[in-house]
Amino acid sequence: MPELPEVETVRARLEPVLVGRRLERVEIHDPRLTRPFDPAGVAAELEGERIAAVDRRGKYLIVRFESGRVLLIHLRMTGNLLHGSGEWLPPADPHRRAVVRLDDGSDVIYRDVRRFGTWLLVEPHELEPYLGDRVGREPLERSFTTKRLAEALAGRRTPVKAAILDQRRLAGVGNIYADEALWRARIHPQRPAGELDPAELKALHRGIRTALKAGIERQGATLRDYRTPDGGSGAMQHEFKVYGREGEPCDRCGTPIEKIRAAGRGTWYCPNCQRL
Ligand SMILES: [Zn+2]
Repeated sequence: MPELPEVETVRARLEPVLVGRRLERVEIHDPRLTRPFDPAGVAAELEGERIAAVDRRGKYLIVRFESGRVLLIHLRMTGNLLHGSGEWLPPADPHRRAVVRLDDGSDVIYRDVRRFGTWLLVEPHELEPYLGDRVGREPLERSFTTKRLAEALAGRRTPVKAAILDQRRLAGVGNIYADEALWRARIHPQRPAGELDPAELKALHRGIRTALKAGIERQGATLRDYRTPDGGSGAMQHEFKVYGREGEPCDRCGTPIEKIRAAGRGTWYCPNCQRL
């Protein structure tokens, strides 16, 4: 599932080729993408809009139009946005859910094998309330300090992994980067979130930011479906410290990485570096 580094990579790649372009023709083939709204109706509304900016909040891509309206895209499990023109375009396949022809002749193609992704067109005044209910602090913003992280976790008895996966508290951290961040911070994923001491909170703050930045630098992690908009792969999967590495030696101490279930998810950690 794309997390903050993957969505940010897609955003950064799409921004320079989309900003200033007008949506000339929009075809949405899958009603699940826009439900409860009619896909043909949404496509018709999008045609003629000119893109002013491509932003991100948590795992949401925010396509802002000059009209003030906004297309909120969430890739969920297996959504991909591809951009190119002419011979580059991959052949039509059953997982292609939408095609947008831009006024420079290039196309944006949306593919989604599992079909959980969503496109939601909102009016300017609807954006902040919508995101406000769903997306918490941006961990890479300067304003996200150790103090802010401490506030988000204070008093919580839930395991720290579950707490940092909660999108309403912390935006964009998913299963992969949660495990990577906790390993960096030397914190067991099942520690109660509210019991971390100041030194641990500082380490976790740094661990979250370092893990996410590493993911962005490597253009995200391609395990199965995630692709960059040119159809390429990310490289972060080659540098995981714990995620998916059960039985392999910890980079820090050589102890075999173990896999457990935490926060309802497969969770990898070093039993020596990350004590309960
Ligand atoms: Zn270790």
